[in-house]
Amino acid sequence: MSALGSAERPLRAAIAGSGSAGFYAVAALFSAPINARADVFERLPTPYGLVRAAVAPDHPNTRTVIKVFDKLAGREEFSFLGNVQVGRDISVNELREHYDVVIFATGAEAPADLGIPGEDLFGSHAADEFALWYNGHPDFRESRFDFSHETAVVIGQGNVATDVVRMLIQPPEVLKSTDITQYALDALAESRVRDIHLVGRRGPAQARFTTQEIQELGELPDCDVVLDPADLILDPASQAELDNPKNVNSKRNMAVFEEFAKRPASSKRKRLHIRFLHSPIRIQGQDRAESIVFEKNRLEGEPFHLKARGAGEFETLKCGLVFRAVGHRGVPIPGVPFDEARGVFPNQAGRILHQGKPVPGLYAVGWIKRGPTGLIGTNKADGIETVDSILADLSEIPPCPEPDSAPIHALLSSRNIRVVSYEDWRRIDTAEIAHGEAKGKPREKLTTFDALLDAARKSSRTYRAPSS
Ligand code: NAP
Repeated sequence: MSALGSAERPLRAAIAGSGSAGFYAVAALFSAPINARADVFERLPTPYGLVRAAVAPDHPNTRTVIKVFDKLAGREEFSFLGNVQVGRDISVNELREHYDVVIFATGAEAPADLGIPGEDLFGSHAADEFALWYNGHPDFRESRFDFSHETAVVIGQGNVATDVVRMLIQPPEVLKSTDITQYALDALAESRVRDIHLVGRRGPAQARFTTQEIQELGELPDCDVVLDPADLILDPASQAELDNPKNVNSKRNMAVFEEFAKRPASSKRKRLHIRFLHSPIRIQGQDRAESIVFEKNRLEGEPFHLKARGAGEFETLKCGLVFRAVGHRGVPIPGVPFDEARGVFPNQAGRILHQGKPVPGLYAVGWIKRGPTGLIGTNKADGIETVDSILADLSEIPPCPEPDSAPIHALLSSRNIRVVSYEDWRRIDTAEIAHGEAKGKPREKLTTFDALLDAARKSSRTYRAPSS
């Protein structure tokens, strides 16, 4: 029998998930010195994962990476099987009948909870829910946000929090020329939110924003940044973190915070209050969020291992909206080992482990591999690492019994799953762009499975944009 990866017997890879991690895994496979084909399975009828569904509409440049993915998708060795959920529509064992390796790029789909009373009150939302809603993810188009309150609180000091803050502050004049969904634009145009509190449980030296993101918050139209200079006085351990020459990002962040703190008060329409060393203790209200109680923290521990500890001082802030931007967790897939504590697939350099030993043929990339850290580009090196593991394992990987995609299509068809190909996606893409053009927007997303599947079926010439 020909060796796996040879011209006679290319390596057959199924990739579950078509976000940046999935596509960068494909890129690494196609750059490897082997023959490989990649069938990418995706739960939605649309590709690109969070690049499409979570990148904020006012950051269109972040989406230019799609061009790289689109080029890969044009390769003859590539297939897209959209509208197919691995673990639900097709099992991992079924995939392994037809693919030598399965690479999981399923991300960290579940937002982390705070685990505090009142978290489930109406008005308290995961930041992801907000992002997926304004980006038209079909699972979230029915979400409701009440922007009739003047005060909103964003918990967490990472880049997801900065996205939420910007989307609450950006005026409709800015958003209307983006690809934000029309329903979100209309709702945000009516927003009465004026004061946004961006609250971290640790200090300014530990904030996880990248400097560009925090800097941008100081440049938003008609919005003052309010930061108390006293909040920038550091304890010795935090100062030691900043003094470490490797800690470039935090040092740059600190310079931005210092500039914010020096700004004279003015009377712009909105105010962004940046606050540190406060943990939410509970969200209060009768039927909905009406206020949030914070406990002041102090930091304990060694530099780079500092933990927030309650100092016994409490403060109540009236607010009608709370967004939790405190991280994410991966979700399990039947047939794949799962690390409950970390919310990832246990792995070593991308090899999925069961009881500490690699499971032949199963690999992971992206957030389900390393946890929810890093930017889109981080997935490039991450994909290469996993593909290097595959190459090193190649002679040990048991070839799949039936190296063919046709039986997979037949199986999905017998289950009434309408597979969306990359050509179908191109039709959706064309339809969305045409629909957006009519409104002076780069695109108006289709936000239901029915509308997406309908557009996938129709040729772009006959497609008529639905009225919104
Ligand atoms: P993140 O960077 O890990 O930030 C999570 C924040 O939540 C931290 O400030 C963390 O504080 C805080 N937190 C966690 N548990 C908490 C609790 N119980 N109470 C209060 N605060 C809590 O996560 P993220 O913002 O979700 O971002 C995930 C990744 O995506 C990051 O790598 C990010 O850079 C990337 N991303 C990038 C962009 C962009 O480039 N524009 C946009 C979005 C996301 P501690 O530090 O104290 O744990």
